[in-house]
Amino acid sequence: MDFDDTKEEAAFRAKAHAFLKEHLELLDPDEIRPNALGEREDESSIAWAKRWQLTKAENGWACITWPKKYGGQGATSMQSVIWNQEQSKFKTPPAIYTIGHGMLGPTIMAHGTDEQKQKYLPDMLRGQEVWCQLFSEPAAGSDLAGLRTSAVKDGDSWVLNGQKIWSTGAQYCDWGMIVTRTDPNAAKHAGLTYFIVSMKDPGIEIRPIKQINGASGFNEVFFTDVRVPDSQRLGSEGNGWAVALTTLMNERVAIGAGGGAGRFRELMRLAGEMPRNGGSALADPAVRQRLADIYVKSKGLQYTSYRTLSALSRGATPGPEGSIGKLVGAPLSQQMAAFALELQGPMGAVMNEDLAPQDAIWPDSYLGAPGIRIAGGTDEILRNIIAERVLRLPPEMRVDKNVPFRDVPTGPPSK
Ligand SMILES: Cc1cc2nc3c(=O)[nH]c(=O)nc-3n(C[C@H](O)[C@H](O)[C@H](O)COP(=O)(O)OP(=O)(O)OC[C@H]3O[C@@H](n4cnc5c(N)ncnc54)[C@H](O)[C@@H]3O)c2cc1C
Repeated sequence: MDFDDTKEEAAFRAKAHAFLKEHLELLDPDEIRPNALGEREDESSIAWAKRWQLTKAENGWACITWPKKYGGQGATSMQSVIWNQEQSKFKTPPAIYTIGHGMLGPTIMAHGTDEQKQKYLPDMLRGQEVWCQLFSEPAAGSDLAGLRTSAVKDGDSWVLNGQKIWSTGAQYCDWGMIVTRTDPNAAKHAGLTYFIVSMKDPGIEIRPIKQINGASGFNEVFFTDVRVPDSQRLGSEGNGWAVALTTLMNERVAIGAGGGAGRFRELMRLAGEMPRNGGSALADPAVRQRLADIYVKSKGLQYTSYRTLSALSRGATPGPEGSIGKLVGAPLSQQMAAFALELQGPMGAVMNEDLAPQDAIWPDSYLGAPGIRIAGGTDEILRNIIAERVLRLPPEMRVDKNVPFRDVPTGPPSK
């Protein structure tokens, strides 16, 4: 087996590395990398993210997989993997563009009119405007097509009412992409329409949700008589499900395996630093057994990801088996964080970076891990995907599929 770069891949890697080195600070390999989930998206880090995005755009390194006509390089998926591998060696600002660049831009490219592409894509690429995804609702997550936020046509515009939830970054975003119900008489998937909305509209109220780790990465978003011009409709009326599927397909690629399963090195180091029975925890056979178990799983995950990389390198498109990465990786990062807390004893509860071992990455990782198991498809939904599309097992029963949405039974309204 040969996992080395091809000649072209090595040349691309060297070019990407040279650009990054010119503009960013290299990470010390022994330095603890901060947690993506624990990153605080405050004003200064958002300003830093915008500056870095502009630098990339001005040098032809923004959104490299986007076609050249939209400002990208038309890079292959393999080149995108190489770029991400190289970028991870440097200090970078929080990833506030994952949703916009990875999911929403490609959706506009696939379904937008020429005017919409010209109006939104260049600013999105330059990153001076940030975008969020307004899909989930209190009663529509895994079953997204059960959403109830309504859009009613009124002349040349639509009037939106309802509520979204878990909208990542909505509190600092300029634009959002939303799926709404425009025809309650049509079947669940058929009565939906997709829009672009300005997050600055006075009818939109954004309430950050306080998470268990103290951050507010996502929000509740309330819509009260929000007027959206018909020119901001993406795709035809009633075709919102197809447009949403484009966003969701890109989501799987954009969020990848997720989790911090790559932190084995830090975990080993922690075991070496923690005292136990007059020596270090690493000398304890029970600790070594647990580390070995985690190492085996990490390696299994790494080699499974190489399968995807080999497919990409050969120009093939990896299929739904890609769901395995997150299904295994997210619980593994949770298992690693739990073990790290156990190794630290009472210090495991300390979240202060200056006091806790390894900059307090583990409590943050422990508290964030359950979210990774939910975002972009829960464990159970990923299992359904693997069962139905990889193993070809019989599909789940979907009793409400062809029923007019207004006749789908619901529970009584909450009091
Ligand atoms: C960190 C994070 C960021 C997010 N960011 C965004 C965002 O930016 N925009 C956005 O729109 N949403 C976002 N979400 C929401 C996310 O898409 C939903 O949380 C997810 O789709 C699950 O939906 P739910 O929370 O309503 O859970 P539910 O769908 O209600 O699921 C509850 C439980 O039932 C199980 N279940 C549901 N259906 C089935 C089934 N058919 N078979 C077996 N088990 C089932 C689930 O696995 C789960 O255990 C984010 C979530 C997280 C955690």
